[in-house]
Order: sequence, then C-alpha cells, then structure tokens
Amino acid sequence: MRTLKKVYLEITNLCNLDCSFCVGTKRPGGFMTPDQFRTLTEKIRPHTEYLYLHLMGEPLLHPQLEELLDCAAQLGFRVMITTNGTLLSRRKELLCASPAVHRISISVHSFEGNRGGCLEEYLDQCVSFAREVAGAGKRCVLRLWNLDGEQTRGENRQNQIILERLALEFPQPWLVRPQGTTLADRIYLEWGERFDWPDLSAADGGDQGFCMGLRDQVGVLVDGTVVPCCLDHEGDIPLGNLYRQNLEEILNGPRARAIYEGFSCRKAVEPLCRRCGYARRFR
Ligand code: SF4
Repeated sequence: MRTLKKVYLEITNLCNLDCSFCVGTKRPGGFMTPDQFRTLTEKIRPHTEYLYLHLMGEPLLHPQLEELLDCAAQLGFRVMITTNGTLLSRRKELLCASPAVHRISISVHSFEGNRGGCLEEYLDQCVSFAREVAGAGKRCVLRLWNLDGEQTRGENRQNQIILERLALEFPQPWLVRPQGTTLADRIYLEWGERFDWPDLSAADGGDQGFCMGLRDQVGVLVDGTVVPCCLDHEGDIPLGNLYRQNLEEILNGPRARAIYEGFSCRKAVEPLCRRCGYARRFR
C-alpha cells in the first residue's frame, strides 16, 4: 500500500472570488455530497492521514461542510483548509469546534487579487479568526504568496500595510524561520513566490524536471478524477476515477507509473508537466 504525505480532495470547484493570480477552471462547477465524500475518503484514508479540502474552489462555500468534517473526524483525518478568508466569520464556530481540523491557511494575498472591499475589515476578520482558532488548539497560517520573483507583477503593494497591521496585533520580535514566521502561539505568516500554473497552451519548457506529484501527493477532483498534483486545475492528467477504482490501482496504472519513473530520472513525461511553472523551480 503506497503511503502519501497528503491528498488534495476538491469538495467544490466553485469560488466566490475571481483572483487575478488564480487560473480557475473550465470544468463544470459542483459540490461533493456527504455520501460521495465518505466513499472517497474511505478509499483515501489507508494512504494518508492528511486531507486537504481543496484543489480549486473555496471549501468554506460548501453548504454541508459540517457533515464532511464529521466524516473526516470519524475516519481519523487531520484536515487542512486553505481559504480566501472572506467567509471566516460565518464558519468560525464550526472550524474551531471540529476535531478533524488541524490547520487553516488564509490566502491574505487574495484581497489585493480582487480589488475591492475594505482591507481593514478583511484583516480584522482574519486576525480575530486566527486568534480564536489558535485558542481552540489549531494552527492558523496567514499567507502572502505574492512575491514577485524575477518578474514584477505589481500585486504585492499592500503587503507593507498588512505587515504593519500584523505588527500591531502581534508585537515583535517574531520568530523568523525559512519556512515561515511565528507571529504568536500557533499563528504563522508564510511567504511564497507567485508562479505560473501549468497550462497546455503555454510554451514547452522541455523534458527536464522534477516534482513531488505522485511522490508525496495526489489530487482528487470533485468528480472523482485522480490527478497527480494540486495544480492540475483542468484535470489534464486523469489517472483514473476514485468512484470506480481504488487508489492503489490508480497509482499503479501505466500513466501514473510513467510520470513517477520519469521524475525519478528528472524527466517530465507529461505535456502538462513540461509546461508547469511550479516544476520549473526545481530545475
Ligand atoms: S510538474 Fe506541475 S503539472 Fe506536473 S505533476 Fe508536478 S505540479 Fe503537477
């Protein structure tokens, strides 16, 4: 039985925002029902303890999130949630109370990616949520994954304002580590570069490459399609369907094995992987 560090399970591919840094998806929108969630998670659980409730979409939009979290708790998962942060006040009690929830990451950079609303109110909500959820024993990560890298894309102008606000809320000195900054007990700030999503219409970057797709993770789309990573937003590398097959069978299928063995030799065999801005980081 192959073990994975994590599985990304897309409980919905719908989102309430339209962020400039997110490619979105052209797949039909939908929500996973609680029965479907149970079917898939029972198949995932033997392979991992860590369940991420997104691939595309905003997980806090799911109308039956409580039932999904109850099921995840019964199966003994540690659930990770990444959210744009706009629905936190509505979901706060549920997230604090659920024994399954282990970590919540708030993409604070999504505010500037949408150009609208009041930054102060948004930060109020994020900070008060962070304090409450940390008080409930969970981890909360505030993400600024909008650094410019080599190309200036002009989408991190508000970072300084956000940092000044965080410094008021969480007095410095902060404990700074390469993987992130500790603002307070169980509250973190995480930096990241913007990257180009994999895209079949992008220029071919060549077959040299390495990626942890299928090595430490897989993704499962809302229709049960298994893909190698959390970035295959259109399901361009369908490896099987978890409603009809089990995960071991899918991981041992010819396409999955070719991808895995290719990366073992630092080769990207899939056209999508040859056009993946994220994998370029590892070249
Ligand atoms: S190279 Fe990119 S598209 Fe391919 S598996 Fe890795 S993250 Fe996914």
